[in-house]
Amino acid sequence: MIRTSFFFVLILASLLAQPPQKNIKKDYPPKIYYNGILKQSSIADLVNQVSYDSLYNILDFLEQKGVRSSGTNNQTLNEVRDWIISKLSDFGYSVSVQDVYHYSNYHGQNIIIEKTGITYPDEKIIVGAHYDSVPTGPGVNDNGSGVAALLEIARIINTVQTDYSVIMVWFTGEEHGYYGSTEYAQQVFDEGVNIKIMFNMDQIGGISNYYGDPYVMTAITCERDERNTIPENNAASWAYTDTLAMLTNTYTEIDAVIDYAYGTDYIPFENLGYVITGYYEYLDVFNPYYHQSTDVLSNMDVYYLKEVIKGGVAFTAYIAKIASTTGIYTENIVSEFYLLKAYPNPFNPTTTISYSIADAQKVTLTIYNTMGQKVRILVNENKVAGRHIIEWNGRNDSNVQVSSGIYFYRLNAGSFLQTRKMILLK
Ligand SMILES: [Zn+2]
Repeated sequence: MIRTSFFFVLILASLLAQPPQKNIKKDYPPKIYYNGILKQSSIADLVNQVSYDSLYNILDFLEQKGVRSSGTNNQTLNEVRDWIISKLSDFGYSVSVQDVYHYSNYHGQNIIIEKTGITYPDEKIIVGAHYDSVPTGPGVNDNGSGVAALLEIARIINTVQTDYSVIMVWFTGEEHGYYGSTEYAQQVFDEGVNIKIMFNMDQIGGISNYYGDPYVMTAITCERDERNTIPENNAASWAYTDTLAMLTNTYTEIDAVIDYAYGTDYIPFENLGYVITGYYEYLDVFNPYYHQSTDVLSNMDVYYLKEVIKGGVAFTAYIAKIASTTGIYTENIVSEFYLLKAYPNPFNPTTTISYSIADAQKVTLTIYNTMGQKVRILVNENKVAGRHIIEWNGRNDSNVQVSSGIYFYRLNAGSFLQTRKMILLK
């Protein structure tokens, strides 16, 4: 009872508090940052529908419910199952469940919906996330974040038609050892279902206060396979994961980091030779709230989660090939003008800026300080079409090292104008 009222006060306090300022992580660890971009106009409309309030309410509900684990709290697990089903019914889906009982002392259900593709209904994409928690905490990040992501994707993708079928599964028993996903993967395998890829999300909500200040992670890990039982499907996983990373770079405010797939509900699919990819929060330290009673909403970063889910929506829409309401499918409308995030960012002393132009023309790339004053003209010349990369060494036009702080860089090429932000930290 003390615990409940404590969390109630926390939630009340967080509701009254101002939204946290977005801070940038100070030590940027050396990982592979994917540096591509892939733009399709119709996807932007879907991405913009991801709602902070929806996510907050889902996570809040899960925290209030508490532990949802078979054997520890079956009743809560079942209540959460029914709540997910009722939300999916509201979105217009007919929902099925799969009984998971082939393990001693375990009983739970996977929750399954399928959106039938209009052009290739027999070719399917699976998007998955587990909804059970560990017995030791409410699992708001692990994996309430994945539950929220899947619900948002289900809600948003149902507003358009897709060429391929999309199956979404909320798995049970992940924390016991991938029980739900093992049974589901085996079932589709036995039925010979044509699965193009399985995309999983587990722990994607970040940690916001670990470093003492409001803390926003600036990247998400895109997981690619290197241990598939069918070797060619590792290559397929890498291609899909590149696409996931490109879409993340294009449609979100966070960066994509590519890393190897670790362990979650994609493993049973991988073991059966299916192509997999996944999202997992980017951490240079292990999440201190992992599997703890402190895996709660106040230790989440819902702003970060929202960005990750935008990427999940974009990826699902892209690989399922969304069609417009008129049935006209718009594929690969690639914007050839772009200005990418500086890498690394924050940086010291040097960062790299990439951009692309569609036609040969005059390009200017200029760095400004927060006062709007010109600091350095990096590029001011005619450039050929295509991708260009330039470094900035933190020096102004007089070759003087500038001070720490926020800087803006602006690309101007014909009618294309884009500005991005970077931080010099010494
Ligand atoms: Zn998990």
